[in-house]
Amino acid sequence: MEQQRRRIGVMGGTFDPIHHGHLVAASEVQSVFGLDEVVFVPTGRPWQKASREISDPEHRYLMTVVATAANPVFTVSRVDIDRPGSTYTIDTLRDLHDQQPSADLFFITGADALQSILTWKDSAEIFSLAHFVGVTRPGHELDTSGLPDDGVTLIEVPAMAISSTDCRVRVAAGEPVWYLVPDGVVQYINKYALYTGGDGDD
Ligand code: ATP
Ligand code: MG
Repeated sequence: MEQQRRRIGVMGGTFDPIHHGHLVAASEVQSVFGLDEVVFVPTGRPWQKASREISDPEHRYLMTVVATAANPVFTVSRVDIDRPGSTYTIDTLRDLHDQQPSADLFFITGADALQSILTWKDSAEIFSLAHFVGVTRPGHELDTSGLPDDGVTLIEVPAMAISSTDCRVRVAAGEPVWYLVPDGVVQYINKYALYTGGDGDD
């Protein structure tokens, strides 16, 4: 009897910090596409954000673990943070494909990140490794021009007007991030005094 191929969502991000916008998007895509698992992949040193000091990858990894721990189908992968150098989505997808060659990958990306796929390294090959799922994000237009019709599906997810940038700014200003990020992430940020100013986010 032929076994059904495993369907795995891939949620890449800086996760500095992970917030409920990420979690709702992942949960919604998991449900709509009947995914067996959604793997969150914190980036190494993202080339798009080279100008900004980003938090230590271990902090971002652990906040992602804390935020996803309660969900049996959410997992976290270290492939990007353990790979030296800048993170390219093509490498993420190749590594995950090598780990589970018989699975179908669904790469989840918000409206703001979707257009930039075309500027990613080896953008033609990435569409052969994964199906792309573009999710709505408040304040960002979903623009699919130039993207292959059969390689991308757009879905509407519950609107969460939250960004990691806003969370960092709020923490630095002494404003609460309760209910924008999971409780454990609030506590993690406090414990390690992340985003509190000085010159660093770590
Ligand atoms: P930053 O402000 O630091 O850029 P961010 O909130 O955009 O952080 P990222 O880690 O850059 O978070 O995003 C990872 C992925 O999650 C991207 O594909 C992004 O579009 C998507 N995403 C982030 N926030 C939301 C949201 N509120 N709703 C839907 N998608 C989101
Ligand atoms: Mg972003």
